[in-house]
Amino acid sequence: MQIDGRTKICGLIGYPVEHTLSPLIHNTLSELLGINLAYAPFPVREEGLGEAVRGAYALGMAGLNVTVPHKEKVLSYLVETDRLAEKIGAVNTLVRSDGGYKGYNTDMPGLCRAMASDGIHLEGEQVLILGAGGVARAVAVMLADKAENIWLLNRTVGRASMIAEEVNAYAGRQVARALSLTEYGMLPAERFLAVQATNVGMYPAIDNAIIEEKDFYEKVHTGYDLIYNPARTKFMRFVEEAGGAAFNGLKMLLYQGIIAYELWNRITVPDTKAEEVYKRLKENI
Ligand code: NAP
Repeated sequence: MQIDGRTKICGLIGYPVEHTLSPLIHNTLSELLGINLAYAPFPVREEGLGEAVRGAYALGMAGLNVTVPHKEKVLSYLVETDRLAEKIGAVNTLVRSDGGYKGYNTDMPGLCRAMASDGIHLEGEQVLILGAGGVARAVAVMLADKAENIWLLNRTVGRASMIAEEVNAYAGRQVARALSLTEYGMLPAERFLAVQATNVGMYPAIDNAIIEEKDFYEKVHTGYDLIYNPARTKFMRFVEEAGGAAFNGLKMLLYQGIIAYELWNRITVPDTKAEEVYKRLKENI
């Protein structure tokens, strides 16, 4: 990569950031598309967030990705927020505009694009969301006007109930319901698309699945684990053993990055280039 006086600079702020795959996504895109843009990670602690955003703007940086733990707090340092990001209440991409940065959420459009490329349709679907953290909430908000029914199953059922109430108010219909993880026997006799949105099963704790009882997996026709390390989680193995199709979260990671790159450069990344970046990501897991 040749850095010169015209190089556009973008980066990632979060804490910690040492293990991020985002530089690989963005610098590979620059290489494949011949775009003069360089991307680097910056460890930013909570107390330094405002200064980091203002400093990046002062340095002329074209854009930033934002990761844990700043996705919600960063909203107060922006000049504008995109409608979807506002609805979700979390931002992972900042795009330079007049007087500051505009915030976007590319995680959910990234997940939609990933699911579409895996042949998964959301319209009219019966969906289980396992978890009730930040990402589970965003998935529920995104699905509110697509899915027929959404069931949120979480260890702390109160968190799932809060999200269900919020989503129902927003959708104007009783689309979401909450259960604890042990109450899956109360689900209707349907087969579901199950989105695994907890940390359970992530490296190094790869011998765990959010629900260990095998009869649960007979209810799942497709399991989408948002974890990508390991590439095949125990949750995915259980889904496949019960006859369902299983996917990991690597394509979501890929497409949230691609959509951010498209926003920074006002381009559309061709599918062939997306596939090449995906190949390199898989080699690096
Ligand atoms: P979060 O806000 O911290 O929420 C964590 C969720 O996991 C909560 O529902 C929590 O339940 C549950 N949980 C954690 N440990 C548990 C345990 N031992 N037993 C049962 N439940 C447990 O996390 P998040 O930001 O939403 O992220 C969730 C997942 O999404 C992570 O695995 C992350 O890697 C993945 N992710 C993937 C991508 C991608 O691009 N593929 C992007 C973002 C995130 P309680 O409410 O009971 O605590």
